[in-house]
Amino acid sequence: MSQRVVVTGGAGFLGSHLCERLIDRGDHVVCLDNFLTGSAANVEHLQGRSGFRLVRTDVTDYIHIVGDVDVVLHFASPASPVDYLRHPIATLKVGSIGTLHALGLAKDKSARFVLASTSEVYGDPEVHPQPESYWGHVNPVGPRGVYDEAKRFAEALTLAYRHTHGVDTGIVRIFNTFGPRMRPDDGRAIPNFIRQALAGEPVTVAGDGKQTRSICFVDDLVTGILAMAHSDHSGPINLGNPHEIAMLDLARWIIDLTGSQSPIVHIERPVDDPTIRQPDTTLAEAVLGWQPEVEVGEGLTRTIEWFRAQERRHAFDVPPLDPQATEHILRGE
Ligand code: NAD
Ligand code: UDP
Repeated sequence: MSQRVVVTGGAGFLGSHLCERLIDRGDHVVCLDNFLTGSAANVEHLQGRSGFRLVRTDVTDYIHIVGDVDVVLHFASPASPVDYLRHPIATLKVGSIGTLHALGLAKDKSARFVLASTSEVYGDPEVHPQPESYWGHVNPVGPRGVYDEAKRFAEALTLAYRHTHGVDTGIVRIFNTFGPRMRPDDGRAIPNFIRQALAGEPVTVAGDGKQTRSICFVDDLVTGILAMAHSDHSGPINLGNPHEIAMLDLARWIIDLTGSQSPIVHIERPVDDPTIRQPDTTLAEAVLGWQPEVEVGEGLTRTIEWFRAQERRHAFDVPPLDPQATEHILRGE
């Protein structure tokens, strides 16, 4: 049966893929976004399709939706370290006040609520891989604290609404996800490496590049989120691909896949940069019957192809990110 779904942050990378999948299967979508780190261009192809509405809204102000709502997917928040360090207060506000408003909407409409939380709640983990039972190792006063603590607060608030107001809530802890529609200047490793490799520029690996991430293609993640939206599990549930890779190996892989001649250069490692990260996805498999299906190499190839197509359309003709500025921001100065 068709549902009416509110997606906050729906014009962002993940949000736009969620909106697209929902519209494709016949649901109605109200996409709320203030375009802080996302763009209307991400959902341009959905404009005019039956059941899709884009509303420019800052969810920290107020959320007002006329009519029934079945599901609220709360994805509004800067997500890349460069973005949230550029917007530290907006990040804390959307994680706290924005989550409060999104929960209030779900309560008012008796809707299912799903919070996009993050593997960053585990900080620089001392347990590997990370199960949901691990409390994490987060520095609240380090530069990443603005994001990590906003998400930890959002998780606590979500459970308070579940226990106090009986809202049907779920929390997903999303691990590093990549794919088409990532901004080439968002500063995350994969879009940075692809953009640099395609431009023949040096590929910037932080530190010695031995730090790891586990990377999931966006299509798999969207399937997991929608499975969570349709379950009544409270979570938190880890969603991510356990395929773990060192950043230096990832840089070499992307250079190889793009056929680039780019050299690798080493830049300073950001403060509190997690050293290892890998989801334990046992719970997602057991509760949602979910596991990633797209091979990482296949996902990277599809992402590179999308970046190439954007370049052909000159869609990226924006001033390139100044790497010095990025390093400075990542140091939290
Ligand atoms: P993104 O920056 O592309 O998308 C976030 C969207 O939220 C943007 O469109 C932005 O404009 C919007 N937004 C920010 N503040 C807002 C506000 N106050 N009101 C309305 N809209 C607002 O990032 P993303 O990678 O798509 O991440 C989406 C969500 O998933 C975030 O909550 C993020 O924390 C979470 N997440 C993402 C990843 C990942 O690997 N991509 C990993 C863990 C968690
Ligand atoms: N990183 C890198 N070069 C870059 C951007 C990031 O080596 O140009 C490193 C970063 O220091 C981290 C890893 O890649 O160790 C993943 O960073 P990203 O910003 O993609 O994700 P997050 O740190 O939020 O997991």
